Parts: sequence; structure tokens; C-alpha cells
Amino acid sequence: METSENKLVIKNIGMILSGKLEQPILDGDCIVSIDGKISAIGYEKDLNTDQPDQVINANGVTISPGLIDSHIHPVVGDYTPRQQQLHWIDSTLNGGVTTLISAGEVHMPGRPKDIVGLKAMAIAAQRWYENFRPSGVKVLAGAPVIEHGMEEEDFKQLSDAGVKLLGEVGLGSVKDGPTAKKMVQWARKYGMQSTIHTGGPSIPGSGLIDKDVVLEADTDVIGHINGGHSALPDDQIVCLCESCQRSLEIVHNGNERAAILTLNTARELDQLDRIILGTDGPAGSGVQPLGILRMIAFLSSFGNIPAEVAFCFGTGNTSRNRKLDVGLMEVGYCADFVLMDQAQHSPGNNLLASVEQGNLPGVGMTIIDGMVRSQRSRNTPPAQKLPQII
Ligand SMILES: [Zn+2]
Repeated sequence: METSENKLVIKNIGMILSGKLEQPILDGDCIVSIDGKISAIGYEKDLNTDQPDQVINANGVTISPGLIDSHIHPVVGDYTPRQQQLHWIDSTLNGGVTTLISAGEVHMPGRPKDIVGLKAMAIAAQRWYENFRPSGVKVLAGAPVIEHGMEEEDFKQLSDAGVKLLGEVGLGSVKDGPTAKKMVQWARKYGMQSTIHTGGPSIPGSGLIDKDVVLEADTDVIGHINGGHSALPDDQIVCLCESCQRSLEIVHNGNERAAILTLNTARELDQLDRIILGTDGPAGSGVQPLGILRMIAFLSSFGNIPAEVAFCFGTGNTSRNRKLDVGLMEVGYCADFVLMDQAQHSPGNNLLASVEQGNLPGVGMTIIDGMVRSQRSRNTPPAQKLPQII
């Protein structure tokens, strides 16, 4: 018999989305998690559901791994000075997102650009989001923006101190290929993931990064390949897809036409596994609590992608590209979920058909580390059916 600190049983699930392109929908109607990790997925009659600490009746709705936003710009807590907005992370949780990944804390007023200062801020940002999860949301932050003058030792110090991300290359003084390449290699040597600002300037102070710089820098993620907002010319986007194997990040705050071009090119290359999603918020265009759901519905409907595949872009693909312990419906992964159903009065015979026609699902519940974090979303259209805590 299993003994546990905290056993969660979710039963009467209508559909289980896996986050896996190779099998986006799993058989089963029940998921069990123990101490915040998925311990079993299948049919209730076959699973050990004895002695649960909490039971959720999914009431026939769909469950997916919690959505991941691969590109955000947090500053501190659940506040962003960029649009003077409070509780934007809580609002994002109401959009089904359970993990956020910083592409640089660039909106900090007075952000230090000297090397000791930028290192100090990156370490502090990593700590303050590790120590405080707004509404339970996981914020992977502490993403320094590289500046001229940094040496290999700086990257070693950052990594030793727990900083495992680089902010967007190109948002600081380093905008040339050779310097970016050297620093990205140092970051990689010490286990830090990197991303880059692709395209024209976002706001006054940022600059153009074209395909030659992106390819030479060779970051792990081609950050907002569809621009943030100004996209590169079509031939450059196609070239980036064809010339390397790095992750292709499509963002909400980018150019929608360039997003579809990226999607179509990746599909022609049979490399949909490279597509990951972000919002690039908070930014000049604000905060998008439903941004990842909107990207899924947009790419599915305009890009003719089955909805269950589009959900992989915002869950399992990001998990695999970024080597996370969230985002996949698999034993051992974090029990981070979003439960959702077809929105009331939306067309289509079920949630997937509705999304394929460009509609958002209604979020009914989010769970992080096996704990319910939100119930009926205040931001999505209302769902037809709602899960219940028993
Ligand atoms: Zn950017």
C-alpha cells in the first residue's frame, strides 16, 4: 500500500492531453499525483486511488499539462512597472499558465548595466522568484542581459550562484555576432540556457538583430522568431528555420503573419518539435493573461494544426526544448495541470474542434505541484462543464 504526504486523485477526466507530439492524446480518465509529482495516468479502475488527500471530479473536462510561457519580462513579485500593472501573473494563471520563463528582467527601473550590477540583479531576481511564487506560479527568472566587457569568469560566477538563463541577447550593448557567440558559448559551458532578440527594435533602446547575428550567436532559443514586434523579412525567417536546429519561439506580441510563416516552414521541414510559445509580455503591447491560449487557438485555426498538436507547442515542446520538469503528462513530471472545457456557445462538437475554429477554451481549474491554485477562470470565456473539488 502506498503511503504519502499528499495524494491527489483526479477522476472522471474527459480527455488527457499529453504535450507529446508523437501521441498528443492519452488513454485514460484518471491521474494520480503524490507529493506534487505525477505517479499514475490511466483508467480509474486500474489505478490505486486509495487514501487520497484530495479528490477532484473532473466532470468530463479535458486536462492538459499546465501551459508554459517561454518568454516573459518579469521584474519583481506580481507587479510590472512596464504598464504599471499589478497581479498580471495571477491573471496569467487564470489563462492556464503555470510556468513562466524570463527572457530578461529588462523593465526594472534603473536596471544596472555595469557588470557587477547586472550580475547582482540577476542573482537577486533568481532568488526572489524562487522564494516567492505569485499565486503559486513557477517563475524561472534571473536572466542577465549580456554587455560588452563580460568575461568567462562572470558566467561561471552567475551559474555557481544559481543563474541558469540568459536574457535576450541584443537587449544590451552586445549586438554583434562574434561577441554574442563567445558569450553564449561561455554561458552554455556553465549550464546556462540562452535566447536572443530576433528582428527589429521593440521599444526605444533595443536594436535590430538579423539572421546573420542570430545564426552566429547560436543561442539555444531563437527568441520571438516572429519579431517582437517587427519581424525579419520572410527569406530571413525561412533561413533561420532551415539553417539551424535551435528552438523556434513564436510569441503573442509578435507579427502574426511571420508566426504562420514560421509554422509552415517548420512543418515543411518536419520539425514541429522545435516550435515553442511565449507572450513576450509585459511589453509595449501590455500583458496578455490569455496569450498562450490565444497562440494555441491562432496557430491551430490559421495554421491548420490539430488543436491537440497546438497544445504541445505550449507544453511538451517547451519542456523538451528547455529541459524542464513540467509540461509533459508523464510519470515523474510535476503535477502541474490546467483543466478546461469547450467554451459556452462556441462552435464545434468538442473542445478541440472549437479551438480549431479559433475559439478559446474555458479554464475551470489550475493545479501546481499537486495543489489546486485557481478554480473557474475569471478571464477565459466560461466553460460548459467545470471540475469540482470533492
Ligand atoms: Zn525581444
